[in-house]
Amino acid sequence: MIVGIDLGTTNSLVSVWDENGPKLVPNALGSALTPSVVGLDDDGQVLVGEVARERLQTHPYLTAALFKRYMGSDHTISLGGRAFRPEELSALVLKSLKADVERAYGEPVTEAVISVPAYFSDAQRKATRIAGELAGLKVEKLINEPTAAALAYGLHMRQESSFLVFDLGGGTFDVSILELFDGVMEVRASAGDNFLGGEDFDDALVQAFVTLKRGEAGFPEATAPAIRQRLRREAQRVRHALGNVNNAVFTLRADEGEWTHTFSADDLAACTAGLLERLRQPIERALRDARIRAADLDEILLVGGSTRMPLIRRLATTLFGRFPSTQLNPDEVVACGAAIQAALKARHAALEEVVLTDVCPYSLGVETSMEIGPRIESGHFLPIIERNSVVPISKVQQLQTLHDNQREVALKIYQGESRMVKDNIFLGDLNVPVPARKAGEVTLDVRFTYDNNGLLEAQVSLPLTGETYKKVIENNPGVLTQEQIAERLKSLESLKVHPRDQQVNSLLLARLERLYQEHLGELRQYYGQLAAQLQHVLETQDERQIREVRSHISARLAELDTTH
Ligand code: ADP
Ligand code: MG
Repeated sequence: MIVGIDLGTTNSLVSVWDENGPKLVPNALGSALTPSVVGLDDDGQVLVGEVARERLQTHPYLTAALFKRYMGSDHTISLGGRAFRPEELSALVLKSLKADVERAYGEPVTEAVISVPAYFSDAQRKATRIAGELAGLKVEKLINEPTAAALAYGLHMRQESSFLVFDLGGGTFDVSILELFDGVMEVRASAGDNFLGGEDFDDALVQAFVTLKRGEAGFPEATAPAIRQRLRREAQRVRHALGNVNNAVFTLRADEGEWTHTFSADDLAACTAGLLERLRQPIERALRDARIRAADLDEILLVGGSTRMPLIRRLATTLFGRFPSTQLNPDEVVACGAAIQAALKARHAALEEVVLTDVCPYSLGVETSMEIGPRIESGHFLPIIERNSVVPISKVQQLQTLHDNQREVALKIYQGESRMVKDNIFLGDLNVPVPARKAGEVTLDVRFTYDNNGLLEAQVSLPLTGETYKKVIENNPGVLTQEQIAERLKSLESLKVHPRDQQVNSLLLARLERLYQEHLGELRQYYGQLAAQLQHVLETQDERQIREVRSHISARLAELDTTH
C-alpha cells in the first residue's frame, strides 16, 4: 500500500487514495493532524504527536519539536541523554503515521510519497528520503509542497497555467510560483520567511494582552516559562476563535487572580499589522524572481493552517486583487496532493516536476566591514550569489582593503539570508596576502562559482599583482552514508514505542501534569489529585473503571478552565 505524507514543521498528516479520492487517515486520538513532536516517556518509550506536544513544557529534556528546520544538517537533538539526528526524529513521526494507516486498513504500508518545501536543497531532500527509509518506507517520490497543493486543487488537469501558492504554517511562510506547461509542473520561484508563522501571531496577541494588564495588581511575570506557555496557548485559542466570532475573551488565571480582556477581530489585525507587512516582501520577491505580474496568475492557493485566519484571507485578496482559492482545508491539501501523486504514480501517470534544485537555495557571500559613522563595524554579510539564482552561476564582487599597510585579507565565506554573518552558516575561509598600501588602494576581485553539484569555488584575484587564490567548498552537509543508515536503523529498532491504545490516557495524564505545573495553591493540589487518581486507576488495567475515571476528569477539566 502506498500513502501520501505531509511531513510538516508543526503538523504531519497521512493520506491514502481511496477509490475515488484522497482520504486523510486519523491518528490514535482521532485527529488527522499529528503534531510533529517526538518525546520519550518515563520508561524510555517513544511518544509521537499530541501527547509529546503536551509534554514539551513539563519534560523539555525528553521532548523535541521543530526538527524539520535541521533536516540536511548534522545538528543533533538530545532526548534523555541520547542524541537524535533530525532524520531519526522525522522517521519516528513517519512510523507513527504508517502505523495509523496499517491500523485503519489492516494492510502493511511499504511505500510513500512525501512532500518537502520547494526550497529544500539536495541535502535536505536526501535527509527526507533517509527518514523514510529509517521508518521502513520506500520513498517512491518526493513532491514539492506547493505542487502537492496544486494537485489537490486539480490544477494539473489544466492546460498551460501559472499560479501562486501562499503557505503560512505554524512557524514558516513559503511563497511559490508554479507554472504548468506540457504536463510538467515547474517551480518558477520560491521565497519565504523561515521564522514567520501562526506562532508569531500568537506572540503578538500575548504581547498586546500583557501590555494591557501588566500594570494591574498581582499580574504575574509574563516571562516566567509556565505563564508564558499558558499565555501562548490562550492566545492561540483566542486567535482561532476570532475566525468564527467577532469577539473573544482572553483569560489568564494564575495564582490567586484572574485577568480577562475581550479582543475583537480588528484588535487582532491591529496588533499583528507588523507581521502582515512582513508577508508582503516574499510575495513581491517571488513575483520578481519569476518575472510574472500578479495579474497574470491564474490562481492563488491558500495553504497552511494559519491561512484560516480571515485577516490573512483579506490580505491575500487585497494583495492580488481577487479572491484566492479556499475550497479545501488549507492544512490538509498538501497531504491530499501527496496521495494523488502516489495514485498517479501507481498508474505510471505521475505529474512530472521540475524541481528547484537547479537553483542555489541559499545566498552565498562573505563577511565585510561597514563604516558606520567614525566606526568600522565588522560582521556584515555581503551576498555574492543570491538565493534562488539559477545554477551553474559565476559572480564577482570587488572588495577593498580596510587598513593602511594591511598585509592580509582574511575572507570568511558564509551562506544564509541574515544581514549579520553570526546568524548565517560559516562555510570556510581563505587568507589572501596583499601588498602593503594605503587603506582602500588594494582591490580584490572575489569570484564565486556555484555548480549543479553544490560545489562552491571562491577565487580571489588581485589586479595589482596578477595573483589569484582559490578555495573549493564542498557544500554537502550531513548526508548519511549507507553504513550509517544501517547503524541508525538498528538503533531506532531498539526503541520501544508507547502503546497506541494507551494514547488517550497518556494524553490526559500529560495534560494534568502540565496543569499541575502551571498552577499554584489549591488548584495545583486539585490537579495533582486528579493525576494521582488517573494514575491509580490505570494501574488496575480495568478498562471500564478507567473509562469512568477518564470521563469524570474530563468533565472537571471542562468546568475549571477554558484553556485546555
Ligand atoms: P506546518 O505546515 O508548519 O506543519 P500547519 O499548516 O499545520 O503547519 O499550520 C499550523 C498553524 O496553523 C498553527 O500556527 C495554528 O495555530 C494555525 N491554525 C490552525 N487552525 C487555525 C484556525 N482555525 N485559525 C487560525 N490559525 C489556525
Ligand atoms: Mg505545511
